[in-house]
Amino acid sequence: MEIVNSINELKSYLAELKRDNKTVGLVPTMGALHDGHLSLVHRCVNENDVCVVSVFVNPTQFNDKHDLETYPRTLEADCALLESAGCDFVFAPSVEEMYPEPDTRVFHLGRVAEVMEGAKRPGHFNGVAQVVSKLFYIVEPDNAYFGEKDFQQIAVIRAMVKQLNIPVRIHACPIVREADGLALSSRNTRLTPELRQKAPLIACTLKESTTFVPEKSVQEVIDFVVNKINSDPDMEVEYYEIVDGNTLESIKSWADTDYPVGCITVYCGEVRLIDNIKYK
Ligand code: AMP
Repeated sequence: MEIVNSINELKSYLAELKRDNKTVGLVPTMGALHDGHLSLVHRCVNENDVCVVSVFVNPTQFNDKHDLETYPRTLEADCALLESAGCDFVFAPSVEEMYPEPDTRVFHLGRVAEVMEGAKRPGHFNGVAQVVSKLFYIVEPDNAYFGEKDFQQIAVIRAMVKQLNIPVRIHACPIVREADGLALSSRNTRLTPELRQKAPLIACTLKESTTFVPEKSVQEVIDFVVNKINSDPDMEVEYYEIVDGNTLESIKSWADTDYPVGCITVYCGEVRLIDNIKYK
């Protein structure tokens, strides 16, 4: 496994492999890797001749300076995990390498980038589109892998590659969870032991709510989820929306879509956790 910091160096490695018709897969990450990330890496290794994993804490997608400053950075441990997962190249550029000039691009990706996380974290998806488009231009992967944990992000990436005509196949990988249901996240390490005990309430409540479908209405299911989670004084739902998984349009009735997905954000103490569930 090679650890590469320079764009030109990575490009010249990959150019040679592509000359030999090797397929290239990319897994973009911000590091602090856990089994959720590694599930994407395993798929990438299995489905491509060459696996590239980027580890880059992208400043342009953080709308909270404190969140950026305190984001965990564990490159050495990440590289050890990636090596044993069979990754071929770790791309770990500096901020200057990725942004030699300020990235002034403004993406207009429509509704999928404007609702839910788009509304609550202004600029976040624009920053994601900036960094992921740069990674796609640098690596020119055949395949790229993203986790359904960030369900809306996948829709945004799909809209971006369509708009920019980037020839990459986007693959969505299922959420990896702890035994108690909590979705793995680099931010889970910020939970105090008491909050860590409480956090599985999110996933448990989402799962329980699927048993009420289709007897209860969409609104009744939303109310159930919000009320149950908010009944814990340390938890506060920021939003819970049940949407069409393709368009991210809110649904009013179960008949509105074949692909209903509930997307939630909850403050667990100070820690902002996201999760989602499919209802069909
Ligand atoms: P991040 O480093 O948080 O930007 O995540 C990098 C990639 O890993 C994204 O595509 C995430 O959706 C994915 N990911 C993060 N957590 C999980 C998880 N628990 N299960 C599956 N994929 C995940």
